[in-house]
Amino acid sequence: MTARILVVDDVEANVRLLEAKLTLEYYDVLACHDGATALNLAETEQPDIILLDVMMPGMDGFETCRRLKGDPATRHIPVVLVTALDGRQDRIKGLEAGADDFVTKPLDDAVLFARVKSLVRLKLVMDELREREEAGRRMGVSGQIEAGARLRESGGRVLLVDDNVRQAEQIVAELGREHRVSIETDPEAAKRQAGGPLDLMIINTAAETFDGLRLIAQIRSTETTRGVPMLAVVDPVERPRLLKALELGVNDILPRPVDAEELAARARTQVRRKRYADFLRQKLDYSLEMAVTDALTGLHNRRYMVGQLSDFVRGANRGAGSVALLVIDIDHFKAVNDGFGHDAGDEVLAEFAVRLATNVRAVDLPCRMGGEEFVVVMPDTRLEDAHRIADRIRRDVAAAPFRILGGEHLSITVSIGVSATQAGDTPESLMKRADEGVYEAKSAGRNRVIARAA
Ligand code: GH3
Ligand code: MG
Ligand code: MG
Repeated sequence: MTARILVVDDVEANVRLLEAKLTLEYYDVLACHDGATALNLAETEQPDIILLDVMMPGMDGFETCRRLKGDPATRHIPVVLVTALDGRQDRIKGLEAGADDFVTKPLDDAVLFARVKSLVRLKLVMDELREREEAGRRMGVSGQIEAGARLRESGGRVLLVDDNVRQAEQIVAELGREHRVSIETDPEAAKRQAGGPLDLMIINTAAETFDGLRLIAQIRSTETTRGVPMLAVVDPVERPRLLKALELGVNDILPRPVDAEELAARARTQVRRKRYADFLRQKLDYSLEMAVTDALTGLHNRRYMVGQLSDFVRGANRGAGSVALLVIDIDHFKAVNDGFGHDAGDEVLAEFAVRLATNVRAVDLPCRMGGEEFVVVMPDTRLEDAHRIADRIRRDVAAAPFRILGGEHLSITVSIGVSATQAGDTPESLMKRADEGVYEAKSAGRNRVIARAA
């Protein structure tokens, strides 16, 4: 897994050293020596990760980080701050500036690579979500939920898995002010909860009654829980354990003894990130659904129907069963709008969609073409069977009046044209015959079904 890394440090020797180490690990390295250049490069080169020195003349690392995170063009790029050893204040300031991670000087190579690898992994997932969401938007379905969404970083659901009572109480006391924290001492129960709605798990890897690293591994390798963010509490002197935790895919490390402010800042970063991922995912689901669904009726839309129909017709021409098509038009629909208003018309359309969907088989595709015209694509169906189903729909619509808000009862009827594929048919020719059927049904007095053999 390779990635492009931007190294920012005012001391040339530091840049050289990092460049050499990262290049040996097959990363692509870009470098510069000050904050302003870093901002430019981040925007134009879009690196996968930025390693940012804190102490620089002019714009320091905190300010650079704040600006990177404040700019929509760069805020998705993970920033790792390079701080002095034991720089507790620096770490807290950095987290507040939006930094994603820290490494301390002098650099521990193994820790550095583990951190970089874990952030690259995270970025790949986020990039994919962003891209798919973007693609959904290009398909013409803008995220309508965007306006209402505000990403909060407090009020997270946090599960603490720890058997160390004093440490757990301290963590709850600190985090409880911002988040909803519950404590679990049983790893099996923790695993079950990991599948539920959680924003963060904090796991003590130094627990005595259970193996925290094993728990981390199990959560990451289980389909239903692998997305949950994990923060591992690790004793910094236990370097192998720290490396193992990173290798297993924890999102962040919290050194023991737990520092209250650092805990709060790291938890906030994780909760914010989780909410952003949820937000993108939700927008994505929404736009994928909108792309194939008619908003008023919940039926498939024309775009979806056209794609499916051409697949089925191609299949039919290759010897699969014939495809039948119903084109359905509501009779005198304009009179509903004129007499009872557009909203009443919409209610009739929605109610008709329900009756239509309940009268076709699960394999059939009922769609709204637009206006008061509907289509049903019926795979593997002969003309006479489609005719029978169409007549059932027609009768079901005419049999009972449509109730609209305000209490009126409206009598509604439909005219239906039916066609089914024959050798050499195209989606267009199939559609044309069904349309002619509708036309004929209308001129013959409406509320009827006309099937058109080729
Ligand atoms: P016919 O029996 O010949 O089909 O007559 P009709 O009145 O149903 O047909 P016409 O095509 O003249 O009128 C269709 C009406 O449907 C006109 C249009 O304003 C209305 N319409 C189209 N889309 C919608 C919609 O989404 N909601 C509502 N309420 N009305 C719509
Ligand atoms: Mg009509
Ligand atoms: Mg019409």
